[in-house]
Amino acid sequence: MGLETAVAPTIHPELLSAFSQDEFNSQVMTTYGRFNLALIKGEGCTVWDTDGKAYLDFVAGIATCTLGHAHPTVIEAVTTQIQTLTHVSNLYYVPVQGELAKWLTDHSCADRVFFCNSGAEANEGAIKLARKYAHTVLNISEPVILTAHASFHGRTLATVTATGQPKYHKNFAPLIPGFHYVPYNDFAAIESAIAELDGRVAAIMLEPLQGEGGVNPGQVEYFQQVRKLCDERGILLILDEVQVGMGRSGKYWGYEQLGIEPDIFTSAKGLGGGIPIGATLCKAHCNVFQPGDHASTYGGNPFVCAVALAVCQTLERENILANVQARGEQLRASLQQLASKYPVISEVRGWGLINGLELQAESNVTAIDVVKTAMQAGLLLVPAGPKVIRFVPPLIVSAAEIDRAVSIIDRVLGAM
Ligand SMILES: *Cc1c(COP(=O)(O)O)cnc(C)c1O
Repeated sequence: MGLETAVAPTIHPELLSAFSQDEFNSQVMTTYGRFNLALIKGEGCTVWDTDGKAYLDFVAGIATCTLGHAHPTVIEAVTTQIQTLTHVSNLYYVPVQGELAKWLTDHSCADRVFFCNSGAEANEGAIKLARKYAHTVLNISEPVILTAHASFHGRTLATVTATGQPKYHKNFAPLIPGFHYVPYNDFAAIESAIAELDGRVAAIMLEPLQGEGGVNPGQVEYFQQVRKLCDERGILLILDEVQVGMGRSGKYWGYEQLGIEPDIFTSAKGLGGGIPIGATLCKAHCNVFQPGDHASTYGGNPFVCAVALAVCQTLERENILANVQARGEQLRASLQQLASKYPVISEVRGWGLINGLELQAESNVTAIDVVKTAMQAGLLLVPAGPKVIRFVPPLIVSAAEIDRAVSIIDRVLGAM
């Protein structure tokens, strides 16, 4: 049976076709421009809709389902922990939270971890930590954090302000003071912003590779210059690893691709493999939080920590980083071949299993056109801006699944 016709045998018959978009939209706030698709079942890199139609999932909940859907290790961790203890409070010690923190500090440059529930919340923690450091260590009374154009850091008021894209700011004024934007991969712009802000810059916050802003990889030389400047001036370097971290780049952390270490970094998306968890991580010298400074009711509860620990241990035990590297090379090579066949493709770029296919700016084909047509053909993709199609499959994706995805793109571009 081909993918297009495969029906998962365990879909409960009542779920099939029992869904009404109109009813959904009359009850759920319309904050998302949703595709005309309702998903009800997943296994590995495949998901099924309400008609029982199968799709190859190269979105993975936007770079989140690290081990795909319904992974046996995740099911086991979820089941065992929920039968044991789901939630208590950070009023008490949570041993499995300590185990997860140990895994993270053993596998990164960080010395300390704060757990929360999402990427935006992890970045809020990083921003608060940097501000406290500015006030208590650097003696800056009105600290500024530099962030990049085309960045994405989240949707809370502070993280949407940090996000250097005006479309996300519209109608939400007044924004949070203390942010200043510079072009990405442009060191001279950072130097002049620091000069202009006259001693107020406390931190520079960047993505190692800009995900949502168009799959723009950071340049090694730029990040090394930024790191050196931060060291000379005592400025903190914060890296937002929410999308590219946790193995997606082919290393555990995006900063390993750049040959530098941040002072503070954040993780979320892939960390829990699909359950909501975020983390703010830092080196010992900027560990300035004290009891009462920061908190999150759900943060690091036994349930999410047990699942995230299982995801981390599986990445390591099954050497999934090797798969990320090999499948990433395979995908980029195949997409390059399509680029020589279809002039509408202007560039293929990325690291590991976060890759972008950019369309010619002058062409009237947009990323969303390709994404919609691919969806009809049984492949889920997500745009990263108007002209870039993003490929972020589960990190367990197979060589055959990469080939199948590329042949669908080939057919879709051929028909356009
Ligand atoms: C998705 C994302 C965020 C926001 O994460 P949420 O969990 O949606 O709050 C922040 N930074 C980056 C780089 C992201 O990709």
